[in-house]
Amino acid sequence: MWLGTRCLKKMKKKAIDGTGSCPQLRAFTLFEVILLIAVFGLLVGVAVPNKIRADQNADVNRCRANLENLEFAVRKWAAKEDVTDGSSVTLQDIQRFTGKELPRCPLGGEYILVSVGEPPRCSTAGHGLLERNE
Ligand SMILES: [Zn+2]
Repeated sequence: MWLGTRCLKKMKKKAIDGTGSCPQLRAFTLFEVILLIAVFGLLVGVAVPNKIRADQNADVNRCRANLENLEFAVRKWAAKEDVTDGSSVTLQDIQRFTGKELPRCPLGGEYILVSVGEPPRCSTAGHGLLERNE
């Protein structure tokens, strides 16, 4: 139980000379409890939206990294198979070439490959490779 510093001083004084008295043990008042809940609510109100936004940004960045790896694999496949830009390519071609399971969009989007030289896309809105400033 919480004791105020004033009460503790009185208790010490009583222990020394027997005159101090502590009228009652003090608990939290309703105002203090409401204030504590309000401060806690404010902190949660700030932290939760930031956590959600950070998770969404992480998913977008993970998808973007997958698309970059996929684009790189397409370029390697095209070079090895001597395929020219503009030729059609499928995810199966790339999976057969790499021999591994292809990465998936963290939010369940489908990766779309159209042709060699064209960057791969994700079907989820907001996911995609960054524009290149060349
Ligand atoms: Zn995606």
